[in-house]
Amino acid sequence: MSSPIFGQHFQQALPADQNLENSTRQVSGAVYSHVTPKQPHQPKLIALADGVADQLGMQPAFCASQTFVDVFSGNTVLPEMKPFAMCYGGHQFGNWAGQLGDGRAINLGDILGKNHKRWQLQLKGAGPTPYSRFADGLAVLRSSIREFLCSEAMHHLGVPTTRALSLISTGDLVERDMFYDGHPQMEPGAVVCRVAESFLRFGNYEIFAARQDLSTLTTLVEYTLKEYFPEHYTTYQKDPELGVLNWFAQVCDSTCKLVLEWARVGFVHGVLNTDNMSILGLTIDYGPYGWLDNFDPNWTPNTTDAQHRRYRFANQAPIAQWNLLKLANALFPLIQSTQSLETLLVGFGQQYERDWLKMMGEKCGLYAIDVQHSEYWQTFFAELESLMHNNQVDMTLFFRQLSHLSLDVVPTIAQLEAFLQPLSYIPLEEDQVLLWHAWMARYRDKVLSENVAPQERTAQMQKTNPAFILRNYLSQQAIDLAYQGDMQEVLRLLDALQTPYTEHSKYDSYYQKRPDWAKNKAGCSTLSCSS
Ligand code: AMP
Ligand code: MG
Repeated sequence: MSSPIFGQHFQQALPADQNLENSTRQVSGAVYSHVTPKQPHQPKLIALADGVADQLGMQPAFCASQTFVDVFSGNTVLPEMKPFAMCYGGHQFGNWAGQLGDGRAINLGDILGKNHKRWQLQLKGAGPTPYSRFADGLAVLRSSIREFLCSEAMHHLGVPTTRALSLISTGDLVERDMFYDGHPQMEPGAVVCRVAESFLRFGNYEIFAARQDLSTLTTLVEYTLKEYFPEHYTTYQKDPELGVLNWFAQVCDSTCKLVLEWARVGFVHGVLNTDNMSILGLTIDYGPYGWLDNFDPNWTPNTTDAQHRRYRFANQAPIAQWNLLKLANALFPLIQSTQSLETLLVGFGQQYERDWLKMMGEKCGLYAIDVQHSEYWQTFFAELESLMHNNQVDMTLFFRQLSHLSLDVVPTIAQLEAFLQPLSYIPLEEDQVLLWHAWMARYRDKVLSENVAPQERTAQMQKTNPAFILRNYLSQQAIDLAYQGDMQEVLRLLDALQTPYTEHSKYDSYYQKRPDWAKNKAGCSTLSCSS
């Protein structure tokens, strides 16, 4: 059993904060600060993602060792490690917030995993850093369970994301005012080890642009290109402005694909601030996120966002575009062409619209959608969405069941009602069923015109429409049990989420509508940022 060797790739390439004191402060001219994790009193492994361990080349014997628990809870810093917290800024809820940074994430360094791929490992909740501002740098068990499970769920759904290696309880208590109502409580603390090729965010570049620190901005951009976008680095060496522009184009593209994936699976991030936007197009920073049960484009899980709903389901693409504009502003000193940046930003919107039609087509089992007739298809899918919305239809169940719906003949009104009612959270009204009937007749024509064998269509549709999503109430049930000391439900969900496109009879209860009791229960319907 040997522990992996941690590298210092990031630390050695980029300028460090010269101040070694772990106190809350503004850090300038540096990309990161050295910091040591807080030692937990009684770290205990709750869950391990075997797939992540395997990808990192970690042997099962090492994962089962005390060294593993010590290293990934922050209890032990191995001799070769130089842990650090990154400096970044960000726009929060539309306003420039200045320096933010890794306030409760401490990077351990990098590991060369399988196929010589380099991964960064970071502990979330391992204590304060110079970027902790007014908070404690810690994380409670409930939010750690949510991040651990959801990042793995996203990965297995095929959505780009940071991953999670381990979930470890610290044995320490953490004070949180969950409802911001002046009634703080002590809760168990935990640490998640997150894994990604890079944790760089839009905010990492914004902070140096805001401070007019062109030198550090350039150093960080060069590092980013060299490490993660080698083809653009080659261009950069010949033509710096073009290299950065091409890279920005790729960030627009990967961000577009990411947001589209969220739309496909019904995920709402909840806090799409620019500090939560990954430069690699990964889902990052799982906080008050949520999954749609009944289809509702206006839904946001984040109570802090309840009033303006900036981060509601249907607003994720425009917000991603707005965030890209902020990144474009930050990179402007290195590109100097407003026109090219604007073209790319407009292109983002066009790409999203086009690809959204294709994605919706695939969800419906329609593969020959002609995006030249985009108006027709936009109306067609908008009608479907408003039918799902108005009738409070469960998004996940609807598309999954649609794959089974026989379209040999036009379903009768009664057949359609029998199909839809179990998928809805409200009694269906007659006039609504008639509207569904009209839509279904058009849908059937489109499906038949594609001439795909029904079994083939079912199989294809099931590859893009999951049976399992990590419904908010499922995580909450696991959390409630965990707070009573029972971690079995966390482990059961961890198993179920690994094959979201396959139904297993033992997990039948997971493929159901949200139960009534969960509709307005805290943690199941909405969440606060307090975690
Ligand atoms: P988030 O909303 O999780 O993306 O966090 C926004 C900023 O607040 C980031 O700089 C975080 O590092 C910081 N932050 C959030 N929670 C804590 C905490 N408990 N302790 C210190 N910093 C935190
Ligand atoms: Mg964040």
